[in-house]
Amino acid sequence: TPHAARTQAASHAASQAPNDLDAFWMPFTANRAFRARPRLIAGAEGMHYVTVDGRRILDGAAGLWCSNAGHGREPIVRAIQAQAAQLDFSPTFQYGHPAAFTLASRLAELAPGDLNHVFFANSGSEAADTALKIAIAYWQARGKATKTRLIGRERGYHGVGFGGISVGGISGNRKSFGTLLAGVDHLPHTYNRAEQAFTHGQPAWGAHLADELERLVALHDASTIAAVIVEPMAGSTGVLPPPQGYLERLRALCDRHDILLIFDEVITGFGRLGAPFAAERFGVTPDMLTFAKGVTSGTVPMGGVIARAGVFEAFMQGPPHMIELFHGYTYSAHPLACAAGLAALDLYRDEDLFARARKMEKAFGDAVQALKGLPGVLDIRNIGLAAGIDLAPAKDDAGKDAPGKRGLAAIESGFHDHDVLLRVGGDTIALSPPLIASEDDIAALVDRVAGVITATA
Ligand code: PMP
Repeated sequence: TPHAARTQAASHAASQAPNDLDAFWMPFTANRAFRARPRLIAGAEGMHYVTVDGRRILDGAAGLWCSNAGHGREPIVRAIQAQAAQLDFSPTFQYGHPAAFTLASRLAELAPGDLNHVFFANSGSEAADTALKIAIAYWQARGKATKTRLIGRERGYHGVGFGGISVGGISGNRKSFGTLLAGVDHLPHTYNRAEQAFTHGQPAWGAHLADELERLVALHDASTIAAVIVEPMAGSTGVLPPPQGYLERLRALCDRHDILLIFDEVITGFGRLGAPFAAERFGVTPDMLTFAKGVTSGTVPMGGVIARAGVFEAFMQGPPHMIELFHGYTYSAHPLACAAGLAALDLYRDEDLFARARKMEKAFGDAVQALKGLPGVLDIRNIGLAAGIDLAPAKDDAGKDAPGKRGLAAIESGFHDHDVLLRVGGDTIALSPPLIASEDDIAALVDRVAGVITATA
């Protein structure tokens, strides 16, 4: 009977709900606040998550910017299962397995220009630290061992390794962790609300901020600088598309001063901006790019670095002691991740999901920008299938701004009251639905976000 089925489903869900909510020390989450009203997810399918109590909630964030093909996709599930049965693990130090080479070739084909050599890691953080280490070692291989300095950018996010937080520019992620890497400097971020508010796509203002690299070169001298790392579109800080002409200028300055340019494409890779990589969308080719997340559509952890031929060749033809890169992870090119990656790339190709995101960009942008005018909306930015919505901060009891409080309220309100999963940084909602989103899904997403904004104002 329906009643028996409901009872059974409820007791199944209850059996899945954990009693102890403190043993798992949660990442970027205050356990104490979470446990007061937990948000527990038990399943996923297509555009939706399913909560432990059986509610379907719309995924407005592609999980964490990663489930680009949507959830529970059969071809990826099957590929992972088959790989686990055939080859569960294989070392890649001094050994190899076919899927690692095949996936690397596929990624090299997908990346623009001569970005042809793939080093595998397991996350975006590892990818960032790998790229920074390769940059420093590259100059050593070329006999320019003084070039070790790394330049990041304010508000940048490159994961949570010591390299990543050192070049990163989100102060909250840095300030509890001591002195960090030496020899790091930062470019200014590119956001200026007075000049850029409510722009679709790339803002017209801000290209000149790339020239700040000249100031850092004057300060430190190019002979000490190894690399500049930026997100082509800053994601975690709240979706900041690059000003028109900015990346081009950064590329030209890096060329002029013999500095490697690294794009962190952990968010922008695999279709988020309607192209395989942001490098292609913006027509600027870095010397290395990092990827993660979407490479397996979020199903199995994987990240990595794609380097231009010249970077790889500097090692192959460098001093004998540098032909081997003394870097790698037990799980570099893990067979399950490679299988998931190959299946995800097939799915992206067969369903033309990157082009689909490009086609959907205008409808998505128009729908999101229509939230302008709701209470406490300070700015909205959109590009590809990504959008940042800045909300005015809540006040504390003394009437002072309490940054982050409204953002957390938006997550709670979304999950419990509006059936939508949101990603929030501070008081900015970042929308990044799976690339399979239909126009109806986008309409539903924006409608639910409107409900959240109103409820938290
Ligand atoms: N770089 C960028 C640009 C990212 O957005 C992220 C994660 N959001 C990372 C690096 C870190 O990736 P991970 O969490 O997989 O280490």
